Amino acid sequence: MTDIYNFDVVVAGSGGTGLSAAHTAAQNGLKVLVIEKLNQIGGNTRISSGFFAIDTIEQRKQGIQLSYDEAVKQLMEYSHYLNNGSLVKQVVKNAKPTLEEIKKMGMKIKLNPVTETTQFAHRNNLYAGGSYHMYEDKPESYKNIQDYMEKEGVEFWFDTSFEKLLHDENGTIIGAQVTNNIGEIIKIKAKATIIATGGFGGNKDKVAQVMKTTNLRTLGVPNMGEGLDAMEEAGAVDIDGTALIHAAQLAKSAVSKESNKQHLAGFSNSPITRLLLTPLLWVNDFGTRFTNEDVVYDTVKWANAGWSVGGKYFLIVDSSTLKDYDIKPQLEVSKAGPGASTDKGDFIKLADLAVEQKTAFKGNSIEELAEKTGMKKSTLCKTVENYNKIIEQNEDTEFSKSKDSLVYDIKNGPFYAFIAQVAYLGTIGGVRTDSHMRVLDKNLNIIRGLYTGGANAGGYYEGHSYPAYEGLASGFAWTSGRLAGLAAVKDIQNKE
Ligand SMILES: Cc1cc2nc3c(=O)[nH]c(=O)nc-3n(C[C@H](O)[C@H](O)[C@H](O)COP(=O)(O)OP(=O)(O)OC[C@H]3O[C@@H](n4cnc5c(N)ncnc54)[C@H](O)[C@@H]3O)c2cc1C
Repeated sequence: MTDIYNFDVVVAGSGGTGLSAAHTAAQNGLKVLVIEKLNQIGGNTRISSGFFAIDTIEQRKQGIQLSYDEAVKQLMEYSHYLNNGSLVKQVVKNAKPTLEEIKKMGMKIKLNPVTETTQFAHRNNLYAGGSYHMYEDKPESYKNIQDYMEKEGVEFWFDTSFEKLLHDENGTIIGAQVTNNIGEIIKIKAKATIIATGGFGGNKDKVAQVMKTTNLRTLGVPNMGEGLDAMEEAGAVDIDGTALIHAAQLAKSAVSKESNKQHLAGFSNSPITRLLLTPLLWVNDFGTRFTNEDVVYDTVKWANAGWSVGGKYFLIVDSSTLKDYDIKPQLEVSKAGPGASTDKGDFIKLADLAVEQKTAFKGNSIEELAEKTGMKKSTLCKTVENYNKIIEQNEDTEFSKSKDSLVYDIKNGPFYAFIAQVAYLGTIGGVRTDSHMRVLDKNLNIIRGLYTGGANAGGYYEGHSYPAYEGLASGFAWTSGRLAGLAAVKDIQNKE
């Protein structure tokens, strides 16, 4: 027999979106149930570091004055006006009150000084770097939030998965079917159903299909996309679901489990990560240079450049460069993405280890290196010859890399090529909504009873590129969740 429970609001997923939506509904006197697949709240939001918000108390305290209009303009321009302006405006304006709500529930927040951003490209950029409100003491902060919400009456069911939406004969959504950890199927009847299951980053096949490559590396909780699928089945339209590509990592060793650790950038103690995080010569699969490598100072531009050549590229160095890295690289080591290890290391030894582990190639000549990597010899030789000229002239006539980054030529063998792969932090984008997070069908009609937000909602970014404003996705999750909660409250009250 299937049990049936009745709530005013059922929320699937307890990341920033779900928590914020559930809190908002409960705060307004509604009976709320949160379904969470894992055994704790937070999802990817819990792993994320901070929240993009404009004109906050924290910014004012530091004498930083930011304008909503300017933020909206910048976000629209970044996305070439492909994003939904009314949604962007709504979210930017509501970020500050949402931040206040989550602080009230016990989230500790500290504004990251704009001079200390890990993305050096955003230093002193008040909008891209100065709006990053960092989550502090995360375990305690999330515990505070759960305690607060339970006190206001929110019920949490953990280890319980959302499976499908329930609807009546008119297509109005009337709740959700879920399965608990012992396989029992339960139907939840609700006046509002908020799908906050955080995209489909755990579904590697779908990510490969959307991103047109299998080369990407992933981080994050394994959200499989059941929420998005169910909304599409109910008539919603996924307009822009895509991987949130972010920085790159050195390739993972194919050789053994133990050696994997040594080449998982950001999660390894290997100093070799410093090669990844400095603007050396990068080439694509054909041996051609493809970008201004200074993008390494901005996680999004870096990932975008890597994705543009199929999600994988090579960094080329010679032995003199490696020896220099033993002491201290003359290039500023980026802290973007996972950040680099600062441990000392013998770089020639480490490079040889990488070759053994099949995450790098070695050649006594550039021709031999080309042969090992499968590149055309003449192409790689030409690329290296041109790059050496650029270093000698101290002027990048190909991609305008800064003079500070024109340090290392490639002349003294043996030569090495390290494999780097673009990483992604779950997915972003999703179904089309109105600016209050009510889900729309293909004719732009509201699907009654259905709301979404965060990594399930489309229109905030639109397209493959995530705007490089720190904390944008995490802030969007909390803020859009609150908007979804407010819309549900309003719609329920209007009906009564
Ligand atoms: C490692 C990492 C670092 C990041 N850092 C940043 C950052 O610093 N700044 C930033 O802006 N963004 C960052 N992001 C992205 C950002 O965290 C996400 O875009 C955002 O948090 C998504 O929020 P959400 O509520 O939509 O999803 P989530 O926070 O992922 O929440 C979804 C929840 O739904 C649950 N769930 C999934 N499927 C089901 C189901 N079928 N039934 C029930 N529950 C289900 C999940 O377990 C999860 O708890 C980062 C992401 C990762 C992975």
